[in-house]
Amino acid sequence: MHDPVLKPLSSDLPADPARRRLLAASAAGAALALPGAAALAQPREGVQVGPRSSFESLVPASEIEAEAARGYRDMLAQARARHLLAEPVHPQLRRLVYISTRLRPFAGMWNERAVGWQWEVNLIGSPQVNAFCMPGGKIAFFWGILTKLKLTDDEVAMVMGHEMTHALREHGRAQIGKEVATQGTISLLAGLFGWGMAGRQMAGVGGRLLTLKYSRDDETEADLIGLELAARAGYDPRSALSLWQKMAAASKGAPPAFLSDHPSSPDRLRTIAANIPRVQGLYDRAPKPDVRYGPPMTGGNSGKG
Ligand SMILES: [Zn+2]
Repeated sequence: MHDPVLKPLSSDLPADPARRRLLAASAAGAALALPGAAALAQPREGVQVGPRSSFESLVPASEIEAEAARGYRDMLAQARARHLLAEPVHPQLRRLVYISTRLRPFAGMWNERAVGWQWEVNLIGSPQVNAFCMPGGKIAFFWGILTKLKLTDDEVAMVMGHEMTHALREHGRAQIGKEVATQGTISLLAGLFGWGMAGRQMAGVGGRLLTLKYSRDDETEADLIGLELAARAGYDPRSALSLWQKMAAASKGAPPAFLSDHPSSPDRLRTIAANIPRVQGLYDRAPKPDVRYGPPMTGGNSGKG
């Protein structure tokens, strides 16, 4: 996620002592929270993942989602100014919207807030092999990932499920919460949200959320939950393997930015392969897509074709 299009935003939220106290209190409470509820849950059909990070409770989801929406709007405005934002009628954008619409009904299983999210999908005419979903369901695909990897619909669904999971499991929120905890002070958070004079000069969270690097555990979780979301939506789980094989092939020579955050290791493929049987039944029983698209007809660098 290193597109020059993406510039951090400065935030203009006002100082709010009451909110700071609230955050400090929730930070203290979070330190006492114990994981383990998931371990007591009934076995479920589908993938198995660990509990959510307790660090996410250090920052309010509503704030993170608002900042993400702001960062997303800013990125879209910059893309539009460069004539790099695909129009709604673009066939590849319609394809992305269709696939996202099939996955979205299952998002609430992983995060009840997602039911109320204003989901958005956009296609950016950048040659980068990249895609992301920001907190609150703000999705973007880059033209390069569709053309250079010639992604099938099933593979697009795997990428989308993976990126949606980063938002659903609030990996960005947890990471910012962890920074707050390790700094041991609320002042960093105040700075991140632009509270106070110093904060106004710092990059806003909305911009930061575009450049976060996720941990290996977050990546594994995104692979597995993404696999299940796509399978429930009627997309073939085996395509997760072909996707990462294509990624591996693309990484020879100059690795795309996406792969610096998402290395296509043998480990990754093994973990995905081991989890396909867990979602096979869900896929077999799922209604299949009634519309099928294909990769872009041209290999050009524009999302406007
Ligand atoms: Zn990822």
